[in-house]
Amino acid sequence: CRNLKPVPWWPGPTCRWILTSGPDHRSQARQPRSIRTADLAHGWGSCSPKGNITINWQLIFAPRKVLEYVVLHELAHLKVRNHGPKFWRFLSTLEPDYQRSKTWLEKHQSTLSADFLRRG
Ligand SMILES: [Zn+2]
Repeated sequence: CRNLKPVPWWPGPTCRWILTSGPDHRSQARQPRSIRTADLAHGWGSCSPKGNITINWQLIFAPRKVLEYVVLHELAHLKVRNHGPKFWRFLSTLEPDYQRSKTWLEKHQSTLSADFLRRG
């Protein structure tokens, strides 16, 4: 987690919305200690052992569903720290459609903000 530049204006409210207004069972997941955005050099999100979740600000350019996926992915790490079968099983209870967002990110990861600027 080096190269962190805090981005305070986003997405506190969005992330809270995702955590509180999804299907009921989502609120049964463990709540993060904090959630914030930053300019992450690698990856879309991270989850510290203490339960602080960081989301890559560039996801502001991604579809809402994909942002939701990343938030829920990090949330799932509060319960399962690794990416074993248990993790994906738990994640699919939070977001049954996660595979689609995962594929979207794999396809767009190098061009997310660049695409946006070109379209701009
Ligand atoms: Zn992960």
